Amino acid sequence: MAYQYLFGPVPSRRLGISLGVDLIPHKVCTLNCVYCECGATTDLTISRREYVPYKDVIKELDHYLKHNPAPDYITFSGSGEPTLNLYIGEVIAYIKENHSKIKLAVLTNGTLFFDQEVRRSLLKADVVLPSLDAATREAFLRLNRPYRDLDHLSHIENLIAFRKEFKAKIWLEVFILHDYNDDMDNLLALKSAIERIAPDRIQLNTLDRPGVLEGLQTVSMNKLLEIKKLWSLPQTEIIAAVLERERKASFRKDIENTILETVSRRPCTLMDLSQILDLHVNEINKYLSVLETKNKIETLNMQRGVFYQMKRSKNY
Ligand code: SF4
Repeated sequence: MAYQYLFGPVPSRRLGISLGVDLIPHKVCTLNCVYCECGATTDLTISRREYVPYKDVIKELDHYLKHNPAPDYITFSGSGEPTLNLYIGEVIAYIKENHSKIKLAVLTNGTLFFDQEVRRSLLKADVVLPSLDAATREAFLRLNRPYRDLDHLSHIENLIAFRKEFKAKIWLEVFILHDYNDDMDNLLALKSAIERIAPDRIQLNTLDRPGVLEGLQTVSMNKLLEIKKLWSLPQTEIIAAVLERERKASFRKDIENTILETVSRRPCTLMDLSQILDLHVNEINKYLSVLETKNKIETLNMQRGVFYQMKRSKNY
């Protein structure tokens, strides 16, 4: 059976072997973050709908779990904001009732937490990984480029509200980007917001894939260590380097080789590769990170977006 809404299992930095469930079509989101690995948001919305059919998602999950070893986690993530799907709570409840041994994780930007129904729909998850990159208006607008009705203050207050209601783990991801939110004002504002949210873990991340805009600059490991020291929040961790992905058991050499063969014939975008290899963009992204770190491929910015090609040797 070819799966339309499941991807992986992918080796995840945070969740071990994780089977992805994508409840949202590419690329529907409440934000249009400049660093998004999945490309620019084409449908910027806060409108909740049954974006993909609930019954088909359940059918795929049942089929996968009947014919494959259980993953460490089933993770709601993908190419947009998963809580935009009206039925996310029903899918979570179904998995908990029928496959109770598998843990559930939800990657969300948390911007729909103003809706009590959205917060309630996640209560059965084992871990929720919301993101908070901006605690000032300017950074929220520049970095996350939200749907017009969203603002940074209610984002923070609603994360606090969720913390009070959700009894399992919250791992808050904070994405740091040079010149966007790495100055002292933004870092101190983030610290005080995070203290109020009181997540179980704070996961500092930075750019390791091309973002939506050209010229974005990652921050150094030293900078991340400085931020960790500045915040002095014991639950802060820096998310491990990309090569960790390759050490995980489900990293497949055949996929890596197919990507290399494909881009050696012609440069491809992330979406091209996803269509050619029939793999989810998140899955392709993991392999691209490793191939870039190994210096086997390089990126090329063109009108249609970021292209990947074989690294050219410099024979002058
Ligand atoms: S919230 Fe996530 S999916 Fe949406 S634009 Fe930002 S990084 Fe991309």
